[in-house]
Amino acid sequence: MEGLFQMFQKKIKVYNFITLFVFASIQTLANDLFEGQSGEIISIPAAVQENSDVLTFKTSTGTKQLISLPFVQKDLMITRHHVNVKVNWVNFGESRITIADVSKVNLSKKDKDRANKEAIEIRMALSNSTKEITPSFDFVPPVPGIVTSPFGKQRFVNDLPRSAHLALDLRGSIGTPIIAPLKGKVVLVGDYFYTGLTLILDHGYGLFSSYAHMSEIKVKLGDLVEQSNTIGLVGATGRVTGPHLHWTVYFDGNKVNPESLIQEGYLRSIL
Ligand SMILES: [Zn+2]
Repeated sequence: MEGLFQMFQKKIKVYNFITLFVFASIQTLANDLFEGQSGEIISIPAAVQENSDVLTFKTSTGTKQLISLPFVQKDLMITRHHVNVKVNWVNFGESRITIADVSKVNLSKKDKDRANKEAIEIRMALSNSTKEITPSFDFVPPVPGIVTSPFGKQRFVNDLPRSAHLALDLRGSIGTPIIAPLKGKVVLVGDYFYTGLTLILDHGYGLFSSYAHMSEIKVKLGDLVEQSNTIGLVGATGRVTGPHLHWTVYFDGNKVNPESLIQEGYLRSIL
């Protein structure tokens, strides 16, 4: 009987040791302070307790994982994936647009219901990312046009403050081909109140991109598209002031700055 009790005690000791070890590993990470800019992706040491579903990268300084930082209105300390991060506010400026069609600003009950339903549809499409594609993060611009509205600009529609512009607007005339910036799977196609003809690509492991205001969609739901394949044409559908591509990138649950992603050697720069 005593032998059994001692064995039991020994087991508890072993478990305590493991618990302590895991706890200590998490603590070590939590004590390190990371820093990054509003709406950017940064790398952190891959946490021991993360499951294998997390995309990791081997570097000379150890195995890393990527995390996204939210858009912030002021410097903010946050905890994400067991690390503390100081997210630095960035002044992205502001833009004021006038939408003459007041019914697209002050929504009727019918339009409000439609927009809410569509927002849920979009959230659903973003809720589950494939593990069949491993994103290379080696983006090419979806259209050759210049940036007409950067990520993070505070918007005022008819002088009323609206949510910040968490996407990139690229110039393009109606009919300009839009190409897939990265290999992806089509997880949403539709005609939406705000974003008009819209398409979402799932690039795997929580990386998504969306294309709004298109004049035509060239792919179907479920299609697998290779990098540089044409997915649609620039248009002016939905709530717009003129033709352009409104390009949104989501990673790790946040909208991130697409302009950073198309920089040469992007992945290397953040690892
Ligand atoms: Zn836009």
